Amino acid sequence: MKSNRYYIELSDRFSAKNYLPLPVVLTRAKGVWVWDVEGNRYLDMLSSYSALNQGHCNSYILQVLKKQAARLTLTSRAFHNDQMALFLKKLCTLTGYEKALPMNSGAEAVETAIKVARKWGYYKKGVAKNKAHIIVCKNNFHGRTTTIISFSSELQYRDGFGPFTPGFKLIPYNDPSFLQRALNKNTIAFLVEPIQGEGGVVIPKKGYLKECYKICKKNNILFIADEIQTGLGRTGRLLACDYEGIKPDILILGKALGGGFYPVSAILCDNHIMEVLKPGDHGSTFGGNPLASAIAIASLDVIIKKRLASRAKRLGDWFMKELKRIKSKNIKEVRGRGLLIGVELRRPARTYCEKLMELGILAKETHKFVVRFAPPLIIKRSELAWALPRIKEVLSG
Ligand SMILES: *Cc1c(COP(=O)(O)O)cnc(C)c1O
Repeated sequence: MKSNRYYIELSDRFSAKNYLPLPVVLTRAKGVWVWDVEGNRYLDMLSSYSALNQGHCNSYILQVLKKQAARLTLTSRAFHNDQMALFLKKLCTLTGYEKALPMNSGAEAVETAIKVARKWGYYKKGVAKNKAHIIVCKNNFHGRTTTIISFSSELQYRDGFGPFTPGFKLIPYNDPSFLQRALNKNTIAFLVEPIQGEGGVVIPKKGYLKECYKICKKNNILFIADEIQTGLGRTGRLLACDYEGIKPDILILGKALGGGFYPVSAILCDNHIMEVLKPGDHGSTFGGNPLASAIAIASLDVIIKKRLASRAKRLGDWFMKELKRIKSKNIKEVRGRGLLIGVELRRPARTYCEKLMELGILAKETHKFVVRFAPPLIIKRSELAWALPRIKEVLSG
């Protein structure tokens, strides 16, 4: 049996250093539990940044994957396949949109939304050529492509990667008056996360999204919601936007859409927007492939059949209440919605995550001072209860 150390040294030698993972090497998983190569068991409270809402190695999704993998995996979009249409129909029906466009990673879906919004701006809104701009929020996270980091406010995400894509304007999050002031005749869209997950689980005040949505409607601007992390049950509703009763003009999904098995993302909007795309305008070799589509259908089925959204609400409310009861001078704030919970500390969160690991809990710091707790939504109350005293021990230390 090889040790954690063995693989970490191997990885140090051969992999790029663009991550700083916790020093644990995982080799198998089931549900909410993962095991390292030395046989130690951990509770996964990160869920791969919410890509594992259905839990690790869900047996139903696995069965669908195996069947589809043995039948047809890839056609490219040069030909039709018999899974994609079923996937998109399910996704549209579930979210109430007329059209969907499948991609692979989240960042690709954000790029797709930007392209669709820009083309809509020129062909439908009548913005002068190459003048369109999109308003985004400070402290955002929308992915890592060159265009997306062009509008990041995180210095490290940009440093050394210029020149940047123009056409974006940053405003502070959580105050609609900045949106009102930032817009002009060339504004085509407002791109926003309903909760800033990577930004430290920042929850805007009630009515913020609705007010922004109203401003967008009044000014013929597309409201684009990046629900890659907050969507698909994570916050206690199917979509975090459901809390404010708004339907974004463009909805971006990813992460849990692939059930933890496969990268699947998509954008959704109504036909009057999607119709700006013509054959050849946009594409992806793997986007909408039959294996991805079959997996996505199964992943959505699990979210609905297991009622993961209401489960996230019920257990999240309880777990957050319990976390708030922890008395510790180290804790500045506990905040969250559903099972997307952040504990803001007064000292860098990394050392707390290392200590949690030693006690069998895998969580990750985000934004230096915040520990995020976002377990798979299939988690049981008893499993959260198992974690509580351990979290209390570490956070009080
Ligand atoms: C994870 C994430 C992305 C990027 O998704 P990738 O699959 O890593 O490209 C974009 N937006 C939000 C809100 C995310 O959480």
